[in-house]
Amino acid sequence: MEAMMTGMINNIFFIIFPIVVYQLLTTTGQRNFFVSHRLSLTILFSISIILCMMFPYQVVSEDYIFDLRQVPMILGALYGGPLVSAVLFLVAAITRIIIGGDGMYIAVLNQLIIAAGVPFLRPMYMRINRLMKVVLVFIISIVSLLFNMLAGHFFFGDPIHDIIEIWLVLMLNQGAITALTALLIEHIQRQEYMFNSLLKHEKMETVSHFAAAVSHELRNPLQSIKGFVQLMKEYDYSRDKQIEFHEMVLKEIESAEDLIDDYLVYAKPTYGQLEASSVSCEVQHVLKIMVPYANGKGVEMHITEMDGNAEILMDRHKFQQAIVNIIRNGIEAMSNGGMLAIAIKSTPSKVSVHITDEGIGMTKEEVRRLGEPYFSSKIKGTGLGMMVTYSIVSQMNGQIFVDSEKGKGTEFRLEFPNLTNSIKK
Ligand code: ADP
Ligand code: MG
Repeated sequence: MEAMMTGMINNIFFIIFPIVVYQLLTTTGQRNFFVSHRLSLTILFSISIILCMMFPYQVVSEDYIFDLRQVPMILGALYGGPLVSAVLFLVAAITRIIIGGDGMYIAVLNQLIIAAGVPFLRPMYMRINRLMKVVLVFIISIVSLLFNMLAGHFFFGDPIHDIIEIWLVLMLNQGAITALTALLIEHIQRQEYMFNSLLKHEKMETVSHFAAAVSHELRNPLQSIKGFVQLMKEYDYSRDKQIEFHEMVLKEIESAEDLIDDYLVYAKPTYGQLEASSVSCEVQHVLKIMVPYANGKGVEMHITEMDGNAEILMDRHKFQQAIVNIIRNGIEAMSNGGMLAIAIKSTPSKVSVHITDEGIGMTKEEVRRLGEPYFSSKIKGTGLGMMVTYSIVSQMNGQIFVDSEKGKGTEFRLEFPNLTNSIKK
């Protein structure tokens, strides 16, 4: 019994570990990791299956090996779908065949049935609520073991009553572990979902601030278009003069369009993939979007140094969001206007983005609390901007350094691994 307990705990660990690894590796924006990252899911669950089978918790004989391999198989099929299920089946079947013994026929047959059958339940599984999910995986788990037990009895005439206790313990145990694991996955996914909602919420807050500035900025081109059109209506200009006016009107319309385009690209809540991108391109894009906002607050933005070649690995939309948050704080720190300096520098190993304001600055305590959710000194602040920025930067393997003096200003320095030199093309 004691050996069984130890073995059982081992097995539980083998099943929990992929989920823990996932939680450690996971990055925000990867909602539904277990659904959308099939390769990682397959590899992690394969390791689970092999470990469970290598260290079973009860070996009655070569023919009867009790372990929890069915848990990753069932959950893999439900979360990953038919393809993941097929690969997990191959892994489980090959491992079982290597172990050998008469029991292997039933075991492989059972694995085949799980692998082929469970994916059919997937569409339903995705629709039902958490409680129903737990019940469903519990039932699948028990039915699958019942099949094993009865198949053993009917094909090999194994006397069930000899080891009925072990079967019962296993059924309850496996059912419970499957249910618990499903619950854990659901819980993690929900947390991720909530974090992403928070991210979006924070961005919408920024976007709504920009909207005021952008519409204000749109007034200028609209005013001059209106002026030209009125002029043309009132006077009979020469053809040349008319063409000149038309061109000016078109130019104003284009600049208004550009403004709206840039703004909309930023406002779109899409999340791209990680790719090597030019830091200066993205930073310049952000600056373009933010000009109306900065103008509205009497802040001038200057690029003091710009390494145009430096590339880093990034999700462009998120990187932009991180930079926007810092620049926006810098602008907001200078309530009487001022200068915001931006520099991009690179060394062979690092690319750094420096954002320096001449604003109110922060105390050591405030700097320490940066990135803490809901920490804000502003009346209408959310205290989420820096939290989002920190999480984005750390996902990019970057670091944030803050140098601030109360009353003088603040410098944010973001450092990222330099791609330009590490990958020789
Ligand atoms: P919010 O801007 O909504 O307050 P953030 O997470 O963006 O939330 O910033 C948190 C707090 O950090 C701000 O309220 C402010 O007190 C401080 N802070 C951030 N950046 C600066 C800066 N450049 N200068 C002074 N204080 C800053
Ligand atoms: Mg902010």
